[in-house]
Amino acid sequence: MSCPVHDWLTVPKRLIAYYYHALPRGTRLAMAGVTLLLVLVASMTIWWLQNSHQSAGQRAAAEADNAARLLEQRVLATNREIDLMLDDIARDAARMPMAPPLEWSEPTGFEAIMMLRHKPERLPHVTVLTILDPQGRVAYSAKANRGDNFSDLPFIRQLIANPSLRLVISPPYTLRTTGKLGTVFARPVLDDQGKLHAIVVAGVHLDAWQRHLTGIELGQYGSVILMDTQYRLIAREPLTDRASLGTQVQPSQMQPSGLRDQTYFVVSPLDNERRLSGVRKLAEYPFILGVGLSERDYLAEWRAALLVCVFGMISLLAFGGWLMYLLWQSGRHAKLLAEREARLAAQESRMRSMVEASPCALGLIDFTHDRIRYVNPDMGLLFGMAAEDMAGKELAELFVRPEEWRACRKALHEATTLRELEYAVRNGDSERWVILSATVLDGDGDSEGDDVLVSLIDVTSRHVRETRLSHEAGTDSLTGLANRRRFFERGSETFELARRHRRPFSLLMIDIDHFKQVNDIHGHAVGDEVLVRLARLLEVTLRQGDLAVRLGGEEFVAVLPETNLEHAIEAAERIREAVENAPLTLEDGTLIEFTVSVGAAQMQEDDKELQSLLIAADAALYRAKANGRNRVEADNL
Ligand code: GH3
Ligand code: MG
Ligand code: MG
Repeated sequence: MSCPVHDWLTVPKRLIAYYYHALPRGTRLAMAGVTLLLVLVASMTIWWLQNSHQSAGQRAAAEADNAARLLEQRVLATNREIDLMLDDIARDAARMPMAPPLEWSEPTGFEAIMMLRHKPERLPHVTVLTILDPQGRVAYSAKANRGDNFSDLPFIRQLIANPSLRLVISPPYTLRTTGKLGTVFARPVLDDQGKLHAIVVAGVHLDAWQRHLTGIELGQYGSVILMDTQYRLIAREPLTDRASLGTQVQPSQMQPSGLRDQTYFVVSPLDNERRLSGVRKLAEYPFILGVGLSERDYLAEWRAALLVCVFGMISLLAFGGWLMYLLWQSGRHAKLLAEREARLAAQESRMRSMVEASPCALGLIDFTHDRIRYVNPDMGLLFGMAAEDMAGKELAELFVRPEEWRACRKALHEATTLRELEYAVRNGDSERWVILSATVLDGDGDSEGDDVLVSLIDVTSRHVRETRLSHEAGTDSLTGLANRRRFFERGSETFELARRHRRPFSLLMIDIDHFKQVNDIHGHAVGDEVLVRLARLLEVTLRQGDLAVRLGGEEFVAVLPETNLEHAIEAAERIREAVENAPLTLEDGTLIEFTVSVGAAQMQEDDKELQSLLIAADAALYRAKANGRNRVEADNL
């Protein structure tokens, strides 16, 4: 059973394995470091933002709270003044007759009116003072008409019904006496029996409250509000809409700020502005006071900082991302390179093993400097050295004829491959024969340049065998002298050289006299011995550089380069004499004497080939035979 969480993790795990774990350790560390740094910077920024947000809020809360306290004192002071004044009037009113209604002209009435007119002079915000009788009708008033009945006003009715109340303050409404918005302070006056005697009433225009709220620095979007406990608006600064005075302005949202006691986040229904407000409910009076600082004001600086931070973070993240990408890419390259290098190294080691195990002698030569870079053990064996010792040596020096390898190198510049050329190389003091193949390998692009792969096959034994065979092919098996074939090879070369350089060149044609008889008398074997004898005599008599040849049967030739006819005749004479004076003694003591006839000929200018010289010598020989044998005859003499 497969677990779904496991399945779900497979893809990210594979991604991480592919993109992260496959990287070299250094890159992984660098990436982790960059990530850590980014997280650290981000956390510090967020922490700082939170902190500065908190302290901006706390400062604003303190400001709002302090302002609220200050205004509370102002409003309280005013209320108490009005209260005191009402007290004062109430004491007078207690002595005044209330019913039936008094006339203007009556002294008590007159005094009372004067009193009601003069009292408010100390309190400019009190606009009208009136004394009502217990039924709520106007008894004395500075403005209202006597007899007007105020008992329809709820707060008056409330007082009539419950005279024990100390003070009632009306909600804002349009005062009948002035036609302006205001609140009314109403105070009952009781007689000795504790029954309602009169009601003292003071009207205060809302404008007066409005003045209390001015002069406080609240920023562009701040506001101060004064309400009664039913949230009816008494005054507000700024007063954007007079029509809102007296209406209910209960906040649409209000929650404790948590920053300071009696401070709240309030959303005003008047302008929907969210404010941090210090709110105070006046102790003895049904008023609520609020001083609100708009977030737009007190968080303005913080928001600017936030913007900078957000922009900075985005830039940092982008930079970090870019850096990570670069790191990832370079790490990946490094990894691939390392893998490729490992593969190449494995390949190279395999190739080296192959080369070392190869029965063929192989070597790498630095083409430019012609130095040995590497050879396998077989190559070392071939040259009689340790393979390691050969590195750095010049290959040409290992050739018996260094110019041969130099010619190969020259050829390799054009052909790039040479095949199956046979050369002699040094092995200590001896030499060995090899078949060489060479190929120029393309350089791998670095400064080392091209290499030449040289392979050598040791063919020394074959070469020796072939040389022996070819030597044997040119040698007469009985006498060991050159045979007819060698005569024509070497003789032709000498003939050509002499012709080219206009040097003298002669031939001697030598034939044993009456040889048939030797055979007939002593047998064929003795005849052979005579032939061998003559061969040895020829070898010792001739100069170095001359060539003695058994042309066939008992016919011999002496090839004499650099020899004119005169000297050739001398040589012929020496031979003839030597033969005459050195008879062969057989094992049984029999002495076999024999002589030779010699024909000599010198190369002439019109001789085109060796054959014509041979014919001339033969002709001379014929004459020697004809003239009695054991003598020398020369051509053209
Ligand atoms: P001449 O003085 O005219 O040269 O007389 P000749 O007897 O030497 O006559 P010719 O040159 O015609 O005879 C050659 C003889 O040499 C014939 C042959 O039996 C003999 N002969 C040729 N080759 C060999 C050889 O390899 N061994 C021996 N023993 N005899 C050979
Ligand atoms: Mg003969
Ligand atoms: Mg003969």
